[in-house]
Amino acid sequence: MIRAVLFDIDNTLILYDEFEFFRQYIPRASAVFADIIPPESFADTIISATQKMMQNDGSLKNRELFLSFFCGDRPDLREDLWERFIEFYRTGFPALQDMVTAPPGIQEVFSRLQQLDIILGAASNPIWPEEVQEMRISWSGINADVFSYITHIENMSYCKPREEYYYEISRHLQVPPEECLMVGNDRINDLAAGRAGMKTYLTTDSDSIEESSLALSRRIRKHSSAGEFPADFTGSLSGVTGVLERLVR
Ligand SMILES: [Mg+2]
Repeated sequence: MIRAVLFDIDNTLILYDEFEFFRQYIPRASAVFADIIPPESFADTIISATQKMMQNDGSLKNRELFLSFFCGDRPDLREDLWERFIEFYRTGFPALQDMVTAPPGIQEVFSRLQQLDIILGAASNPIWPEEVQEMRISWSGINADVFSYITHIENMSYCKPREEYYYEISRHLQVPPEECLMVGNDRINDLAAGRAGMKTYLTTDSDSIEESSLALSRRIRKHSSAGEFPADFTGSLSGVTGVLERLVR
């Protein structure tokens, strides 16, 4: 029986061209760090630090690992650089909402899940601060408060597609993996939940932008040895309710 549903955010709860998103994100963010990191090397610096963070083996929180690589030989700058990220996410980042749409039927899905008393988790790769995860959820028209747990860079020590990531969120939700359904658009990152014992639902709403959208995700996880996993269910986000009605009985 399924008691909890976990949702990926990017191209699951909000739809957008990820490549175009980062094409706009990188120059805006790099301007904030221009006095320390040459803007022309900012993209490589942040992607490289993110790739290393995604290898986190649970020994420390993702934020600590990210900052140690992002700051390189200037550890004294850690808190300054972190504050700059947070300030940028409050001021420059919200404009990117213009690129985002919500998948059809999302409000009905969440209304029904709440009626069914399903525990909800937001299982976006924990490479962003909490407020950025919450902001991106709100862009979908869903209130972030409906989620019992939202994974982010400061509360997780693993990233997708490691199965330990799924054990970690399962522990926080206090629901065993076998009673969780993971919903997401990514055949590797999200369907890896199946290896941890969760049921999986592959969403198809982003299929029209999938190729360009996933190019950056692929680049970021190029060192990952994870393969693809089969989905238990496949369909649009609006189809989650029908599957769940069967699984909760
Ligand atoms: Mg996604």
